[in-house]
Amino acid sequence: MKKLFAIVLCLAMVFSFAACGGEKDDDKPVLKMATNAYFQPYEYYEGDKIIGIDAEIAEAIADKLGMKLEIKDMEFDSIITAVQEGSVDFGMAGMTVREDRLEKVDFTTSYANGKQVVIVKENSAITSVDDLFAEGATWKAGVQLGTTGDIYATDDLGEDRVTSYNNANSAVLALIAGDVDCVVIDNEPAKALVNANEGLKILEATYADEDYAICVKKGNTELLDKINAAIDELVEDGTIDTIINKYIK
Ligand code: GLN
Repeated sequence: MKKLFAIVLCLAMVFSFAACGGEKDDDKPVLKMATNAYFQPYEYYEGDKIIGIDAEIAEAIADKLGMKLEIKDMEFDSIITAVQEGSVDFGMAGMTVREDRLEKVDFTTSYANGKQVVIVKENSAITSVDDLFAEGATWKAGVQLGTTGDIYATDDLGEDRVTSYNNANSAVLALIAGDVDCVVIDNEPAKALVNANEGLKILEATYADEDYAICVKKGNTELLDKINAAIDELVEDGTIDTIINKYIK
């Protein structure tokens, strides 16, 4: 009886082990992504989960690579450093491909387009993007530290007229509080912020057009090639379009 019990127990262990093997998520190698999760609809919290366009595309890429995605939330300005130091495998945060960033990291194929726009209060005296640059204008802009909005606004308005915040929400709170007169930020997050807060609007003209891509450690061509191949497949089979259309109506 004891022997039989032991055999049954052994068999049960063998079967459960086999069932868990291979496909089980915990056995897969981890693919670590750095992002800044205050950037709806690309990455944002729903409860304690980070969801959004980037989160879902990253999940699909990890799936193709047979890996398990882990998302690390940090300030936007820390993402490139984290990738350089190797504490994460890649950065994905509605990140614009730029020459100066290419000196620090490598970028994949672009998976989406973005543009910079300007948010003002509904009753603002700033009525166009050109007003901001007018001769003698003193309007102050709020931006997210280290973003293209920060770079362009600092170039065009001068450092004294630009205040950097750690994320989009803080920049918009500063606008509402009257600390700044406008916020320069990517279009889709701008829409989400205007919807979530009373009394704000987006100025009509676009400030700049951009391409979003994933960044990996410079010289990590193995991972770069794998992600590029995954992106190609996900573009081809319509997955990326489906994900984008789910979040951007
Ligand atoms: N597209 C902008 C950039 O790359 C902003 C990205 C972000 O704030 N997450 O700088």
